[in-house]
Amino acid sequence: MKFYVYNSFTRQREELVPLEKGKIKMYTCGPTVYNYAHIGNLRAYVFEDVLKKSLQYVGFEVKHVMNITDVGHLESDSDTGEDKMALGAFREKKTVWEIARFYEEAFLKDCSLLNIALPSVVCRATEHIEDMIKFIQKLEAKGFTYIANGNVYFSIDKYPDYAKLANLSMEELEAGSRVEIDPFKKNPLDFVLWFTNSKFSNQIMQWESPWGKGFPGWHIECSAMSMKYLGERIDIHCGGIDHIPVHHTNEIAQSESATGKKWVNYWIHCEFLVNDSGKMSKSSGDFITISRLEEKGFSPLDYRYFCLQSRYRKQLLFSLDSLKDSKQALNKLRNKIRHIIEAGSKDEIINENKVKKYQQRFAAQICDDLNTPNAFTVLHEVIKSEELNHEEKIYLIEDFDKVFSLNLTKNEDSKESSLIDESYVNQLIVERNEARKQKDWTKADEIRNILIGINVELIDSKEGTSWRTINS
Ligand code: AMP
Ligand code: ZN
Repeated sequence: MKFYVYNSFTRQREELVPLEKGKIKMYTCGPTVYNYAHIGNLRAYVFEDVLKKSLQYVGFEVKHVMNITDVGHLESDSDTGEDKMALGAFREKKTVWEIARFYEEAFLKDCSLLNIALPSVVCRATEHIEDMIKFIQKLEAKGFTYIANGNVYFSIDKYPDYAKLANLSMEELEAGSRVEIDPFKKNPLDFVLWFTNSKFSNQIMQWESPWGKGFPGWHIECSAMSMKYLGERIDIHCGGIDHIPVHHTNEIAQSESATGKKWVNYWIHCEFLVNDSGKMSKSSGDFITISRLEEKGFSPLDYRYFCLQSRYRKQLLFSLDSLKDSKQALNKLRNKIRHIIEAGSKDEIINENKVKKYQQRFAAQICDDLNTPNAFTVLHEVIKSEELNHEEKIYLIEDFDKVFSLNLTKNEDSKESSLIDESYVNQLIVERNEARKQKDWTKADEIRNILIGINVELIDSKEGTSWRTINS
């Protein structure tokens, strides 16, 4: 079966033809570990996980590499603004190293809660400084760099196809990137490969290099690590759409200049998760994490299910109400599956031809540029089918769940919805506060116990009463 994807580079839906038959080399940009990943970031990682599992479902062998950015990423994505790692360290009064390891672990935990499979290689930027230095030396030897004010820059004028991925004119790219003008750049779109002259007086992460003690710019890590683990050419590179105009554009320029070869055949980008106030972002401070959702009574897989109900190339509007709908739909689905499992019997025979027909219909949907909503329609057809017996249904549900990864046949969270009605909880808190004011301790305790009964624990503090769910 042909696998179709939308290639951001050509702006076309294309059949995926790998460099090597049956094998896919895939690189995805990983997190900058200076804060928790928000659910917008995690939408991108869920999409990449579904892409990888869909490729595996139809028989490709996938080698997947993802970096951990623990150095060099400035706020603007180009060379302006504060150093993100230093911002985290300042905020929490920790060292940059402590921040990096803490948030890397938190990120990997979120991935595990979301059933995101670990890539074949997860590589930290700070452990690949030598590879980056060698890469910059290669660019230097070929005349693509210059040194100004102590820093090594990539000269984009030496790479004529610079604006191709973003499909913008140089003027448009410039307008989008210019926040603060660096007078040492020959072209405002040039970017730093290696800083020796850090504008941050307290720069802690520094390494010796042929250009002096310093640290790498952000973009170089992805090219250096991708080539180290996957070779000079790869099939797929992914990330969120915000990476198109700066990060991925710069990655292409430096990679193709270093090798003289086309680097990536398919660029696949995920659209944003947005809320009422726009794109969810860490810098706005107004972001939602997985643990915040858990506190509100949702499971991480409710969020995964929510993401899978939309196509990855569409903006996804997040609200707690729509997540509530997803949670209820997932619980309903699990209940139906539980009934099938309970009714099943090992004596039922699985007819391979019947099962294959549904597998092909499912594969056709995921091969259609990951049409996950339609893939769920096939799942519902299996559940309702009158031609399939229970064991065939269970077999197919488990098979599809290799891609969905929602633990559909596991007995978790499958009882009636455990969602907490927030307005009810808030109303009881008001009543309890009133009772406490009247010194009616019996009533106040009664209300506390009612809430414990629905898995809500109250926390009294100087600021008032808050609540959290008790994980049973
Ligand atoms: P960062 O940790 O900021 O480098 O971002 C990690 C990944 O999340 C990148 O692929 C981003 O493009 C992606 N991303 C950031 N914000 C959002 C959002 N609101 N919705 C979807 N993806 C996002
Ligand atoms: Zn990258």
